Amino acid sequence: MRLNLLTQIFIAFVLAIVLGLIFGPSIAVIQPLGDLFLRLIKFVVVPLVLSSLVIGVAGTGSLKQLGALGGKTVLYYMVTTAIAVAIGIGVGYIFMPGTGLSMPGSESQPDVAQAPSVTDMLLGIVPTNPIESLVTGNMLQIIFFAVFLGLGITLLGEKSRTVYKFFEEFAEIMYKITGIVMRFAPFGILGLTAPIVGQYGLAVLLPLMKLLLAFMTGCLVHFIVTYLLAVRTLGKMSPLTFVRGIAPAMLVAFSTSSSSGTLPVTIKSCEDNLKVPRKVTSFVLPLGATINMDGTAMYQGLAALFIAQVFGIDLSFTQLLMIVLTATLGSIGAAGVPGAALVMLSMVTAAVGLPLEGVALIAGVDRILDMFRTTLNVSGDASASVVVSAKERQHQVQTPKEAAVL
Ligand code: ASP
Repeated sequence: MRLNLLTQIFIAFVLAIVLGLIFGPSIAVIQPLGDLFLRLIKFVVVPLVLSSLVIGVAGTGSLKQLGALGGKTVLYYMVTTAIAVAIGIGVGYIFMPGTGLSMPGSESQPDVAQAPSVTDMLLGIVPTNPIESLVTGNMLQIIFFAVFLGLGITLLGEKSRTVYKFFEEFAEIMYKITGIVMRFAPFGILGLTAPIVGQYGLAVLLPLMKLLLAFMTGCLVHFIVTYLLAVRTLGKMSPLTFVRGIAPAMLVAFSTSSSSGTLPVTIKSCEDNLKVPRKVTSFVLPLGATINMDGTAMYQGLAALFIAQVFGIDLSFTQLLMIVLTATLGSIGAAGVPGAALVMLSMVTAAVGLPLEGVALIAGVDRILDMFRTTLNVSGDASASVVVSAKERQHQVQTPKEAAVL
């Protein structure tokens, strides 16, 4: 019997939950299946981001068009991220997840890595050696390199035709490989999700249940109110089509907790199911997977509030503003890999003057929260591709008319 990929993925997901609940921690034996899938999708990412972003930038044809496409994309990313942090702080005040929790004992010292300073983070975007960035998989630096390569190609025009063609064909090959890797997705999702369900029994989650609930509510609200509304009104697409179309990417994001890793699937879902043109996906999605993380931003806002509540600290308005600012910056700087937000959270807490011990308190359930925020991160990128492509279409329809009038 041949089921379509989405059905297979969905069955794998449900099966993973059932197996995890039945077998508990011992289901970890199937983890290698998940690890194999993770490695397979990660191996596509660096060449895919480089080639697709180069053609994404160069394919716009002129600096003016690139500016228009980039402007719309970045504007959408910024506005939605700001809304996400606001929702995070909002649910933090409504649910008050940190009140009534006792402070962790001295034995739980934070063992989270120190986040870089804001200046270092911004300077770090510029690679001193782009080949090294490719080798180490530093996404922000790869984006910087790719955008400049694309710009160079645009400025040179005909003279760089061969290089453009090379990247175009290279990207095509990477998309093809993604398609092959995706056939393995159901097994990968089974291997990644079942061990997590088996490992995190209710006992681990119960003390921080309110935090989990608050975060899930925030994610759901943002998904429905911000994305589905944007897709419906700005993107002129039915929310149901959107949800069905990006479901594979959402499930892969949920089980891998990595938006960079999910990128090949996000691109494939948007192109094949939502019919977003390659011109848009190749620019909007690689950029979004790295700099647009609404789930991460919301998580940092909520987590900072949670920590303040646990330690009984009243936040001033300036501190709240500081949280919004650093949470946004942290979400841009966070890499699309599992647990990245936890590292960035120490930047937020340091900026606001909250105790670092609070970060350790959340660390225990971070893996679960990560699944939700990564799903939101990826959905946000996909919604941007729908909105931007609708705006581009509008622009193209209007332009010839205007030209005719002139
Ligand atoms: N895991 C997230 C992602 O890849 C980043 C984070 O919030 O930790 O999108």
